[in-house]
Amino acid sequence: MASQEIETLTQALSRLPGLGPRSARRAVLWLLKRRDAALPQLVEALAAVQDTLVECGTCGNIDTRDPCGICADPRRDARSLCVVEDVSDLWALDRARLFTGRYHVLGGRLSALDGIRPEDLAIGTLIARVAAGGIDEVVLAMNATLEGQTTAHYIAERLEDYPVRITQLAHGLPVGGELDYLDEGTLAQALRARRPLG
Ligand SMILES: [Zn+2]
Repeated sequence: MASQEIETLTQALSRLPGLGPRSARRAVLWLLKRRDAALPQLVEALAAVQDTLVECGTCGNIDTRDPCGICADPRRDARSLCVVEDVSDLWALDRARLFTGRYHVLGGRLSALDGIRPEDLAIGTLIARVAAGGIDEVVLAMNATLEGQTTAHYIAERLEDYPVRITQLAHGLPVGGELDYLDEGTLAQALRARRPLG
């Protein structure tokens, strides 16, 4: 039977996404065994972000400063804006290092089921950014779900009257994906997004 302190730590870790009670216990044990090497680093890193984390007032990214590192970076292309549902999507796209513009985080997706309306998302601030000018292209990088696509269509309509090119991520075959393993939705998307060879 572990002490109350260890139990509290285990419970806190088990609430992290992707970690259940079992992996939390393994993580705690791992940390305890390395309390001189790994534990101080972790404590320090957590303390460092605790007081400095802010939401970027421009794009909605989470960073230790506002404007965030991406909005403040003069090397990023200010004429290209990529709209995503959540900060995790922004981070995933930015890790891939393929997009050199800036971002706009909606904070979710439209959902009749969950009662999420346009005014619940950062759509007004998106329109304002586009209306302010200086943006040529808006890339809608919503998830390939029904709600994600509904959100993309809604935003495309709201941006209709502005002189910007609106594009969308192609949804198709995953890298290494074999046709007969794909669900029909993915296959249909891949077929619709087909393009000339070469
Ligand atoms: Zn930002």
